[in-house]
Amino acid sequence: MSRSALPGEWPATGVERLGNCPVCGGSRREMLHDDARDRVFFCAPGRWSLWRCLDCRSAYLDPRPTPSTIGLAYRGYYTHHPVPSGPTRGFLSPFRNAVLNDYLRAHYASRRRPWLPFGRLLLLPYPRDRRSVAQWVRHLPPPGPDSVCLDIGCGNGEFFEAAQACGWRIHGLEPDPVAAEIARGRGAVVHVGGLPDTGLGTNAYHAVTLNHVIEHVHDPRLAVEESWRLLRPGGTLWIATPNIQALGYRRFGVHWRGLEPPRHLVLFNPTSLTDLLHRAGFRPVVAMPASLKPFRNFAASHHMASGQDPNTPGNPVPWRIRLAALSAAVQAWLNPGLGEELIVVARKPRSLDADQMQAGPGNIQSKDREETRAQPGEEPDHPACPRSEPPEDQAESD
Ligand SMILES: [Zn+2]
Repeated sequence: MSRSALPGEWPATGVERLGNCPVCGGSRREMLHDDARDRVFFCAPGRWSLWRCLDCRSAYLDPRPTPSTIGLAYRGYYTHHPVPSGPTRGFLSPFRNAVLNDYLRAHYASRRRPWLPFGRLLLLPYPRDRRSVAQWVRHLPPPGPDSVCLDIGCGNGEFFEAAQACGWRIHGLEPDPVAAEIARGRGAVVHVGGLPDTGLGTNAYHAVTLNHVIEHVHDPRLAVEESWRLLRPGGTLWIATPNIQALGYRRFGVHWRGLEPPRHLVLFNPTSLTDLLHRAGFRPVVAMPASLKPFRNFAASHHMASGQDPNTPGNPVPWRIRLAALSAAVQAWLNPGLGEELIVVARKPRSLDADQMQAGPGNIQSKDREETRAQPGEEPDHPACPRSEPPEDQAESD
């Protein structure tokens, strides 16, 4: 099926101009695209300009929808629909599920059944599977007895099963009341609201996760500072977001699936996301291995470039695109900074030094910065553990 971008213009009074980068505040910039359109869900009118900040190399829309009109871009958005969840999505055998469940049991305190005793050993030759299942539980450390995780932008609650299987009490925050109601049906507390003014308690959560959320918010700096406020000292912040430095963007440009204008207001690169978290006081900030999205993103981007609906199942994907995705996956394996998305785990320090206490989030200088990157094929150490008497860094080994 071929579709064109929704015709028409965004309401003239419903846009705002920036001038400065919403990530670092820099004013030096270059235009990347002046005709970016919604070629993903075809539900947002308008043509958009995407800029690259010459200071931090993030990309951002300018002008962009105002907070009061951005809802126009979410009509028909996919969080309205319940989706299945699970690490294997049903197409793999029960045996394979049992192997993965044993791995989750060993490393993430999962109680998911059935599990195959010592099945984790069968995954030793398969780092890709280990990485995939670790991402499914968002690299969260084993919880303590009262540990609560807040999933900001939880959509219909597709993460809840994974968090609950690992022993976490899970709360959600979702601006869309329809999606929030679906999420409540999964047995979790779900608040209706969003960033940056969540209205939730200070130091209330042991973990906060933002899965493809931060690129949607108008002020990512305030969003990170609010996450800091919500977290208890020693708590974990997990973020996944598209990577403007991805090989897919280099190949497909304005047709890259990750751009998604005008819902994606800002697009990070590995350094700009890490620096933003450091400025808020998080340390260490650990870059996790690149995910397994090249094929999915390359296929969708190819269909968008061909004027097709990227959401239509069964659209053929040429072999040259498949091979390019395979090449991208290998390169991202060696260098996660080229991956289709960025995944970071950051810790709010357990004890704040005098400067941090005085300065507060957003004003902390970058001294004593710690930046870590997990090696290709290896599981990274947990940067944080919220239990009452945790080891400083709980290493995970196979
Ligand atoms: Zn910038």
